[in-house]
Formats: sequence, structure tokens, C-alpha cells
Amino acid sequence: MKVVLQNLTKKFPGPKKTDAEVVAVHDFTFEIPDGELIGLLGPSGCGKSTALNLISGLLKPTSGRIFFGEDDVTDLPPENRGVGLVFQNYALYPHLTVKQNIIFPLQNRKGKDKLSKEEMSEKANAIAKLVQIDGLMDRKPSELSGGQQQRVAIARALVKMPRVLLLDEPLSNLDARLRLRTREEIKRIQQETGITTIFVTHDQEEAMSISDKIVVMKAGVIQQVGKPQDVYDDPVNLFVAKFLGTPPINVFLGRVQGGKLYIGEDAILDAAGVSDREVYVGIRPEGFVLREDGPLCCTLDRLEVMGRDISVVSSNPHCQAPTVRSIISAENRVDLASGTVRFAVKPNKVFIFDQENEKRIRFSAGDTCHG
Ligand code: ADP
Ligand code: MG
Repeated sequence: MKVVLQNLTKKFPGPKKTDAEVVAVHDFTFEIPDGELIGLLGPSGCGKSTALNLISGLLKPTSGRIFFGEDDVTDLPPENRGVGLVFQNYALYPHLTVKQNIIFPLQNRKGKDKLSKEEMSEKANAIAKLVQIDGLMDRKPSELSGGQQQRVAIARALVKMPRVLLLDEPLSNLDARLRLRTREEIKRIQQETGITTIFVTHDQEEAMSISDKIVVMKAGVIQQVGKPQDVYDDPVNLFVAKFLGTPPINVFLGRVQGGKLYIGEDAILDAAGVSDREVYVGIRPEGFVLREDGPLCCTLDRLEVMGRDISVVSSNPHCQAPTVRSIISAENRVDLASGTVRFAVKPNKVFIFDQENEKRIRFSAGDTCHG
């Protein structure tokens, strides 16, 4: 089921009468193609849950429309929208067994939609198999691990075969290992069922790893929509560049002068076509190349060996952070004794941004400069 948001806006009154209202979701317009998994991504408080609750019908928009396929669902109550919802806290009924929990949403159907006990049981069994909890059907929620409880919650959301599945930080209560496994499971279940899914998270790695497309949000405003790799490789502004990637992008104060990009006195790239100005320079950790004659000079702090790669931790007075993080192949040899390290940079891993509005300034980077 295709989901279309048209100029969707939600305002809340401010905490006190005299406070300005909060625009939790500002003028969202985008389309989720049928069968895709979309990651809504942004820091806490940016409006992710509000956006999801508008789609579910738990909240009414201040303005704008929501369509499921050709149906305008904006004025429909949640129970008539055909959505499945999963939240961070699993919200299972503690006194019911796993099976009873899964069957629960099927029970109060009326008229032609009414199901017999056998039909409900069959549906519950099929979904339990899909999410791999079929061996736990007679247990109570208190007898399950967090990961198992979350699977029950997912089964319960899926048993009605919703048109759209909405997941709000569904993995946040799980430990790191389980989080990894469960997110792979969610991806598998989504692919097997083909249900259009919106997955809310503040964790960029989580969103990047399972989403067909991500929607990056900041303060109620969509910043960028695209395939995870495309957004990573081609961020539209400094916020998006900083939000995606671990270790995060390194940001320097720099300038373009005479068609060259400078960090301090080091000219690191040709930047033909950009007029002289102050800029932010973002360099991805994988964008550094160790080279004795490299133009960018940093003070070497330490090395962190990570097996396949080495993380070179250094510092530079023009970097916004205390350390510059670069990732290089473990085959490189780094001489710690020298105290300094010199880098060339990979042009496609260097982005520059306007210092006023933080928007990306596009330039066709020439060759890396020599020191
Ligand atoms: P997220 O899920 O991204 O953390 P939310 O959608 O929960 O963000 O909140 C977005 C903004 O809207 C926040 O500033 C929050 O304080 C505000 N907000 C959310 N729900 C309400 C509400 N019911 N009443 C007033 N303000 C709210
Ligand atoms: Mg939230």
C-alpha cells in the first residue's frame, strides 16, 4: 500500500499559555512506495513519533492530508485505517498468554469479518511461525526475554494483515546484540510480507542498515529523503552530513581562496568555480589517505587497531572536535614517534558547507593537493 503525505503539519500548544506553539511536524510532503521500508530518522524531539502517530490516526493533523493508496484516511479513526503499531515498550497484556495476546486484535470483529476460534488460532499460529515464536505460545509475557516480547508485539501488529506497519523505536529496549538480530528479523519479516513499513529511530546505523529509504528530520522539518547510501554520499547540508556515519564526519573551519580549499594554511583540494569565502569542511573518516607529502598536517595522538582497519586519532587546530578521526587500512604503517601525520584527502569524501546557512556548496573537486 502506497502512503502519501501531503503538506502534513502538526502544531502543539506551548507548555505555558504564553509560550509559542511547537511545530512538531512541519509541512511533510513525501510518498512511500508500496512495499518499501522507510526509516524516519532524527534526534530525540524532532517529531518522529508525532509523524508516525499522524499516520496511525492517534493524532489529528493541524493541516495536510494522508492517503493510503487512493484512500484519503485523514479523517478516519485509527481502527479503520488498517495499521499495525509497535512501540518501544512492548505493551503486552501480562495476564494473557502469547497466543491470546496475538489473537486479541482479531476478537472484536463483527458481522462478515467475524472469525471462528479455529480461524483465529490458525492466523495466530501462522504469524507466530513467521516471527519465530511458535514454540512460546503458552507462555506469559513475564516468562519471555525482551527480544521475544518484542516479537510477540510485532506478531500482534501483523495478525490483522495491516495495510501499513508502523514501528516506533521498536528496538530501543533491547541490548546491543539482540538489537542487531531483531532488526535483521524485522527486515526479513517485512520482505516476506511485503507490507509497507515505517520504522522510527534516532539511531542512524539502525536506519541505514534496514531502510530502503531514509527520511532525515530536524526540528519537525524534513532535511533529506533518499537511499541510505545516497544520502551518506551526497548530504544536502551540514546537519545531515554530521548525523550519518560512525565515526562521525570530521568538521573543520576552512576557506576557499583562489580556487583552492584551505584548512588553515594547508591547501587540501582544488575547488575551481567556488568564489572566495569561509566554509565548513567535512571530511569522512574514510576520506583520509596517509601520505608523507600529504597537504593536511595533524598532530598524531594515538592509533586504535580495529582488525581490518586502523583508526588514526589526531588533532588539528581548525577541527571543530578535539580529535580528527580517520580510518585507514591496517596494512599502512604509522610511525607514532614522529608526532605528526600527513594526509591527502579523497575528493568524493570531502564536502563543503556555507557557514551562514550550513547548506552544501557543490564543487567539482580537482586532484588532491601535494604538500
Ligand atoms: P521524537 O519522537 O522525534 O522524539 P516527538 O514527535 O515525540 O519527537 O516530539 C516532537 C516535539 O513535539 C517535541 O518538541 C515535543 O515536546 C512536542 N510534543 C510531542 N507531543 C506533544 C504533546 N502531546 N503536547 C505538546 N507537545 C508535544
Ligand atoms: Mg519518539
